[in-house]
Order: sequence, then C-alpha cells, then structure tokens
Amino acid sequence: MSLIIDTIAGHLPPKRKATPSGWISFNAVCCHHNGTGQDTRQRGGIMITEGVSYHCFNCGFKSSWQPGRPLSVKFKKLLAQCIV
Ligand SMILES: [Zn+2]
Repeated sequence: MSLIIDTIAGHLPPKRKATPSGWISFNAVCCHHNGTGQDTRQRGGIMITEGVSYHCFNCGFKSSWQPGRPLSVKFKKLLAQCIV
C-alpha cells in the first residue's frame, strides 16, 4: 500500500458504508470548503484500488490519483481536507 492510500484510509470518517460496487460512502469532507452546506446524507464516496477516486454528490467535487502520477492540485486539496 502506498503512503497516500494509507493516509486516506486512516482518515476516513468512522461512520461510513461500503457499497457492492466498491465505493465507500460517508459524509463528504469537501463541501464546506466549496461553499456548500455540510453533507449529512453520506453523499461523498471514495474508491480505493491501486489508486484513489473521490466523488462528492453534494457539492460536485471530484478528484483522483493513480500510482506514478503526480498529485493534482485538487487531490492535494482533498488530502488536506481529509486530514484536518
Ligand atoms: Zn462535497
């Protein structure tokens, strides 16, 4: 496991659920940073495979990272939001 995946997996909200398609959903961490109300309906989702995809159906923020690729600005923002 990469440090990036370990970091994200270690900071997911405790209240979360896994869907059969492999997404883990929880109250999104991004919304209040994007000018939208805090998600209370577990509309944030993350898929962890060899990389990471994040999608929020509340404010519309999405970002992903694949091994060997540099971290995008949006993905760095997501990491900061997860960890703070
Ligand atoms: Zn959001």
